[in-house]
Amino acid sequence: MSLFKERQYLRVHVDREPDDSLWMKCKSCGELVFKRRVRENSNVCPSCGEYFFQTSQERLESILDPGSYEPFGERLAANDPLSFTDSRAYQERVAEAQAKTGLDDAILIGRGAIEGIPVVIGVMDFRFIGGSMGSVVGEQICRAIEASIADRRGFVLISSSGGARIQEGMFSLLQMAKTVTVRRRLAEAGLPFVSVMTYPTTGGVEASIASLGDIIIAEKGAMIGFAGRRVIEQTIAEELPAHFQTESFALERGQIDRVVRREDLRSELAVALGFFVGAR
Ligand SMILES: [Zn+2]
Repeated sequence: MSLFKERQYLRVHVDREPDDSLWMKCKSCGELVFKRRVRENSNVCPSCGEYFFQTSQERLESILDPGSYEPFGERLAANDPLSFTDSRAYQERVAEAQAKTGLDDAILIGRGAIEGIPVVIGVMDFRFIGGSMGSVVGEQICRAIEASIADRRGFVLISSSGGARIQEGMFSLLQMAKTVTVRRRLAEAGLPFVSVMTYPTTGGVEASIASLGDIIIAEKGAMIGFAGRRVIEQTIAEELPAHFQTESFALERGQIDRVVRREDLRSELAVALGFFVGAR
């Protein structure tokens, strides 16, 4: 399947090697920078402003008020409904991703606060099988939204995903319908949903829940799209513009509301949520 190859390319592009050294060399400006400083700076190069990959744990740290994060108690791990094997068994891929990331699946959900405004937040993690949405991610998004409704809090979803988890076949595609349905209940309850698209937000996630925010923010440098560029070019037999599937392309066409620098994401989220809850 061509989509699967696109994801593998993306994974190579953003993955980081685990390493314990104190310093790192910025690939963009070549400066040697102190890693802790990079982390404190939302994983942005203090020298040239280049964005480095952020894990879901680092995202939570850079967006939520310190000490405010409370993960949901119940942990879910992926089943293997199709006993799926491609070049490797699906269960093997899941176990490897769990060991590599320390996560149960490709999303973290919990309660927290952004500049004092209580929220329920979900943060996807591209390291876990390309941040793909299978049954676990779909279920966790639904539980997060249900908690938003129960607590009367706004919901923030930070996407970083190659799309549906193909190893779960139809079951992963069903998550699109499932999350969209529960999202509607949030709207009926009169609560806000702010969707943040980061690099990359593609496939079935872009085509469902991530595109349904009351406000949709893209992080600067985000890639936003459905199928890969090559697939589309071959299908429509036309050359696509150079900035196709960039955040500025999506903004020009009204697909998103705003492009925000990572350094400003926390304060912009507070403004957006505050608008709905009447805090500012
Ligand atoms: Zn740099």
